Amino acid sequence: AYNFNAGPSALPLPVLQKAQAELVDFRGTGMSIMEMSHRGKDYEAVHNEAVSLLRELMAIPADYDILFLQGGASLQFAMVPMNFLPSGRKAGYILTGSWAEKAYAEAKQFGEVFEAAGTKSENYRRVPAAGDLSYAPDSAYIHLTSNNTIFGTEWHAFPDTGAVPLIADMSSDILARPVEVSKFALIYAGAQKNLGPAGVTVAIVRRGLLEQANAGVPTMLRYATHAKDNSLYNTPPTFGIYLVGLVLAWIKEQGGVDAIHKRNKDKAGLIYDAIDKSGGFYRGHAQQDSRSLMNITFRLGSEDLEKKFLDEAKKAGFVGLAGHRSVGGCRASAYNAVPVEACRALAQFMIDFQKSNG
Ligand code: PLP
Repeated sequence: AYNFNAGPSALPLPVLQKAQAELVDFRGTGMSIMEMSHRGKDYEAVHNEAVSLLRELMAIPADYDILFLQGGASLQFAMVPMNFLPSGRKAGYILTGSWAEKAYAEAKQFGEVFEAAGTKSENYRRVPAAGDLSYAPDSAYIHLTSNNTIFGTEWHAFPDTGAVPLIADMSSDILARPVEVSKFALIYAGAQKNLGPAGVTVAIVRRGLLEQANAGVPTMLRYATHAKDNSLYNTPPTFGIYLVGLVLAWIKEQGGVDAIHKRNKDKAGLIYDAIDKSGGFYRGHAQQDSRSLMNITFRLGSEDLEKKFLDEAKKAGFVGLAGHRSVGGCRASAYNAVPVEACRALAQFMIDFQKSNG
C-alpha cells in the first residue's frame, strides 16, 4: 500500500522488519525487549541509545534534557501551562489551526492566555509572519505549532521571541528538516508521525526553563520529575522507545536530517507540482509560502469529484488521502517514512485522473 495516513502513519519498512526479527529474541537474550526490566542493562542501553541518537540528529545542545513521556501531544497541552504558566502572568498562543486551538483552550484552564497572532479568519491558509506577533515582554511563553497537520501549513522561519521562551508543538514535522533547537525553550511531539509508534511523546526542554517551573504540579506531570530520572521515574513505554530508537537509527542511515529534508522537499514537490500544473483542477489549501512538506492539502472542483478521486485512489492502492473532516477535500501526508516512489505514484495518479475527468 502507498500509505499517506495523517497519523499514526507509515513507519520505515526496514524498521518494522528489524523489530519483527528481534521480537521474540532480542539480540540473543532469549526474551522480547517488551518483557525486560526497564532497570536492566539491556533495556537501559536501548533507552540511552535513543536519547543519544535524537541528541545527535537534532544537534540538541547539552543544556537541554530529552524526555520520553506518555499521554501524547494532547497531554503536553496541559503540562505546558501547568508547569510554565505562573499566576499573574500570561502565555501567548499563535493560532494556526485545530491543534493550536486545542493547546490554547487547554491552557485557559490553568491560567491567563492571549492570542499572540492567528489566521483563523483566513481559514488557516497560512502561518503568520514573524512581524505579526504581538505580546508583552513579560509573557510567560509563546506557543506555536510548527506544522499544522490538518490545514497543511508549516512555519518556514520561526519568530525570534528574545527572552520570552518559545514553545513548539512539533508533532507532525519533528525530524523532517533541520531546526535550531536553541531558539526554543521546549519542543514536544507525539511520536506517531515521524518518530515511531503512538504511545511515546518526546519533549526537549531547556534546563533553565525547568528551574522556573511552578510548584505544586503533580509528580507525573512535572517535567523535572522525568528529567531528573532520565525518563525512568516510572515504567516508560519501553517497546515504543525501542522503536523510536530504530527509527532514529534509520534516519541516521539515510544521511541524517539534512538528507531527509532534501528527500521531503523532493517528495512534496512532486505532489505540489501536480497541483500547480493542473490549471486549477486541483487547488492547494495552503498559501504557497506556508506550504507544509508533511501534509499536502488540496481540493477538487466539487465534492462529487473529490469522492470519485478518493474512491479511485483507494482502488489504486493509495491509503489515507481523505482530508480531515474540518477541511474536507484531500490530504496526502508524506512523512519521513513515505518513500519517494509513493509520492511519484500519487503525482502520476493525479495527472491521469485529471486527464480522464478534466
Ligand atoms: N499536535 C499536532 C500538530 C498533531 O498533528 C496532533 C495529532 O495529530 C496532536 C497534536 C495530538 O497528538 P496526540 O494524539 O499525540 O495527543
